[in-house]
Amino acid sequence: MTAAATPVDERGHDWIMAEVEKMKALGETEPRLARDPVNQPMINNWLEAIGETDPRFGDGEAPPAMAQVWTMYGLNPERPANDPLHGTMQILDAAGFTSVLGTNCDQTYARPVKVGEQVAITTRLESVVGPKKTGVGEGYFVTTENTWKVGDEVVATMQFRVLKFKPGARPAKVDRTKLVRPQMNRDTAFFWEGTQAGELRIQQCNACGELRHPPGPMCPACHAADRGYVVASGKGTVFSFLVHHAPQLPGKELPATLALIELEEGLRMVGEVLSGKEGIEIGSPVQVVFEKIDDDLTLAQWEVTS
Ligand code: ZN
Repeated sequence: MTAAATPVDERGHDWIMAEVEKMKALGETEPRLARDPVNQPMINNWLEAIGETDPRFGDGEAPPAMAQVWTMYGLNPERPANDPLHGTMQILDAAGFTSVLGTNCDQTYARPVKVGEQVAITTRLESVVGPKKTGVGEGYFVTTENTWKVGDEVVATMQFRVLKFKPGARPAKVDRTKLVRPQMNRDTAFFWEGTQAGELRIQQCNACGELRHPPGPMCPACHAADRGYVVASGKGTVFSFLVHHAPQLPGKELPATLALIELEEGLRMVGEVLSGKEGIEIGSPVQVVFEKIDDDLTLAQWEVTS
């Protein structure tokens, strides 16, 4: 790279954009062939992982959303010298923008590909926009355009955007009152009055008795609008969870563990796990805890109980 020829402290915005222009001028890469032709075993693995059961994909047609699968680099990739995404990452690394976050991916499918076809990918650098101040730090948005073809025929395209940024300093103390506020309205007021009273309330249809969450104006089972609530036990199990590391969210201490809780009453509810999260796994027993944020808001959160 030419990066090495320029002293670090001179690799500012103008230098970045000049390097980017050179990268853009390289245009589209030579087509890079997929390692293997489209094949049924790989389709089957993908269907199983995604949970897709449409029979049309069991017999020679690849799901369009697999487009990127066929041209994945292996574990020890040999990248083309002018790979624009990799090259642009190197430019921004050299200028101190060392962290990366995927932000958008838009795929367009022209036609399904079939078992036996071998796709090839080309890539070009579309744009580099910045510097922008973001929640995670100052950075540049890098957009590449990828095209998959079988022979000369385009089968799919993808616009892929990443934010390449300088990690910002984390706020020293998290202010919980800056949390994104839940919506409170006539349908949900009983729930938030409940959390303030130390009760986990679940909406119940007064006509047919069906429980539902999140709350809404009408019963999905019998369409009655007459509604009340029951107080749940506050016990449940972890149905699914994720640990959020970045980007920084207002009022949240990171990493934050967010879980989909299956209540004893059979409904599911999303919440943050505040304690016992070190040992969390799917099926962990949890107990509701009420976290008072301020006079207007008390949240129903969770702790792992064993
Ligand atoms: Zn009902």
